[in-house]
Amino acid sequence: MSTANAYLTVRGIDIDVVYKDIKNLHIGVYPPMGRVRVAAPQRFDDDQIRIAVVQRLPWIKRQQAQLKEAPRQTEREMITGESHYVWGNRLRLKVVERPGRVHVEVDGDRLVIYTAPGSTVESRRTALDRWYREQLRQAIPPLIEKWENELQVAVPKWTIRRMKTKWGSCNRESRHLWFNLELAKKHPDCLEYIVVHEITHYFERHHGERFTELMDKQLPDWRVRREELNGSPLASEEWGVNEQSERRKALPANV
Ligand SMILES: [Zn+2]
Repeated sequence: MSTANAYLTVRGIDIDVVYKDIKNLHIGVYPPMGRVRVAAPQRFDDDQIRIAVVQRLPWIKRQQAQLKEAPRQTEREMITGESHYVWGNRLRLKVVERPGRVHVEVDGDRLVIYTAPGSTVESRRTALDRWYREQLRQAIPPLIEKWENELQVAVPKWTIRRMKTKWGSCNRESRHLWFNLELAKKHPDCLEYIVVHEITHYFERHHGERFTELMDKQLPDWRVRREELNGSPLASEEWGVNEQSERRKALPANV
């Protein structure tokens, strides 16, 4: 079972909780955004999980800080044979040198960049980024239109940009939405999840119970899509303390 089934916010950090048939509690911090996921034994309740998370906060914050400083995964050499992701598919890059304008296209399982002989790595990277941006620019409008109708709202403005810590964001006053350029590398279902998630902030600012309820109603499989957005953890820790001793030792002030 890999579907998260609880969401908590602890000291401003959103936590996905998955209950599993395990003995110890595990905490993982996942790239690229530093999402925190807790795998908890079935018998644990919200308070026990909060306590465990609060006690691991310094560690969690260290991992998240490390992620922000880490060199971008996109710093590739842009040479033939490298793998690059497009809409959730892993493609092999093929660089074809030829005179004329730079051009990017998908050909089966290949991502082909046509570029002038002797082009720089930087210019290839810029061309590919521009192409990713174009993919999103085409994919986002139909999704926004669909969800404007579905939820009876208007999205006046949206923008694609590089973000280091978020897949998307929403300004509730101006109703402006932002989407991370990296979404073009993920399965299209993930993009739709982010569209619905950000529009849902029109109705609810925080990721609390009401937010979860709205998402459940609007996009019942949103948890699966959210899982898709995340790979393996950057780091994880096991909380190897049994329930009894944890209770005694851990009930601190202001959780
Ligand atoms: Zn949000």
